[in-house]
Amino acid sequence: MPTALDLNRIRADFPALQREVRPGVSLVYLDSTASSLKPRPVVERLADFYLHHYANIHRGIHTLAEEATAAYEAARQKVALFLGASEAEEIIFVRNATEAVNLVAHAWARVHLRPGDLIVTTEAEHHANIVPWQMLAAERGLRLEFGRVDDQGRLDLEHFHRLLAQEPRLVAFTHMSNVTGVIPPVAEMTRAAHAVGARVLVDGAQAAPHLPINLAALGVDFYAVSAHKMLGPSGIGALYARREVLDTMQPFLGGGGMIRRVTTQGFAPAEPPAMFEAGTPAIAEAVGWAAAIDYLQALGMERVRQHERDLGAYALERLRQVPGLRLLGPATMQDRGAVFAFWLDAAHPHDVAQVLDHHGVAVRAGHHCAQPLHRRFGVPASARAGLYLYNTRADIDRLIEALEHVVRMFA
Ligand code: PLP
Repeated sequence: MPTALDLNRIRADFPALQREVRPGVSLVYLDSTASSLKPRPVVERLADFYLHHYANIHRGIHTLAEEATAAYEAARQKVALFLGASEAEEIIFVRNATEAVNLVAHAWARVHLRPGDLIVTTEAEHHANIVPWQMLAAERGLRLEFGRVDDQGRLDLEHFHRLLAQEPRLVAFTHMSNVTGVIPPVAEMTRAAHAVGARVLVDGAQAAPHLPINLAALGVDFYAVSAHKMLGPSGIGALYARREVLDTMQPFLGGGGMIRRVTTQGFAPAEPPAMFEAGTPAIAEAVGWAAAIDYLQALGMERVRQHERDLGAYALERLRQVPGLRLLGPATMQDRGAVFAFWLDAAHPHDVAQVLDHHGVAVRAGHHCAQPLHRRFGVPASARAGLYLYNTRADIDRLIEALEHVVRMFA
């Protein structure tokens, strides 16, 4: 069992956790599923890079341009190692996980899929892993089928295998739901999808911040992540594309940085990953992301996961005691992350979030970009508490106290 995280030390790195949201009310931040807080070393690295090393990359032959290019490429290497990619070139920098999925749609699916071909996704997905496929299906005459979930939000694997029997060309699913926290058996699903000739795209936006990831072991073809959910800056994310698949993709955005040669007759693209990074990229953000990965690796992802399992188990036990609270997701931490979306009989999720904010507890309310999943559960919206490495039992106690206040207030 990994040793426990030193929470006092960690929390000291996040100045937001020391502030009050109004006089006498300290902040309890439970909105990390939407975006995490940033520790000092990440912000300091960003500031240092902007102040002393910043220049545009790849094109310059002066010192700053060379330093900036080296830092940007070192960040790519770091992301590759963190995710367990075989080579740095398999990492394409994009703006966020949403753009990573859209890049697969444009640079791979648009090239390889034909009218009538089937894409399988699931009803547990964030809209980022649904809408790009709906758009492409409408444009190209593709078929789209949805894997189903059970009442606890776990994927119905028997139904999933029935969908695979229809021989889809692409299977796209999340590594951790941003609503139920469910972690499906990715390696097993990937093997089954590969066995019928499908490519596999996994949405890692929620998994990468919270779990040790080894993409080479999982065997997936594509993996999408955002830096801002894992202590890094907003405005940068990555698409991992396995080398064998990467070499069959075609450029999506055209412009500077993605070409080898241009004439008035046409152009020859650069090699991947540059082929997919047209225009000036998020240079400082890549460097800041590398600092976030350093921070996570110094703690160790096994320890981060263990902390969230322990704290999540405590949260589940306490949430169970709140009258009229219905959890959307499994009631044990076995195969789920520490994100807890719930419906309270007493009040609408927006009212819940507002009262909680009054108590200094930051949660999110709404459909969390997962409308099909909320429809499956028969609720229009939910309130959601998402834990991360800096949260404590005291944070959970404050959440529960505030929820009990909501129940009394609206009773
Ligand atoms: N996929 C999942 C599971 C998410 O939770 C999110 C963000 O909440 C996304 C994709 C999209 O991430 P981004 O908004 O950073 O593109």
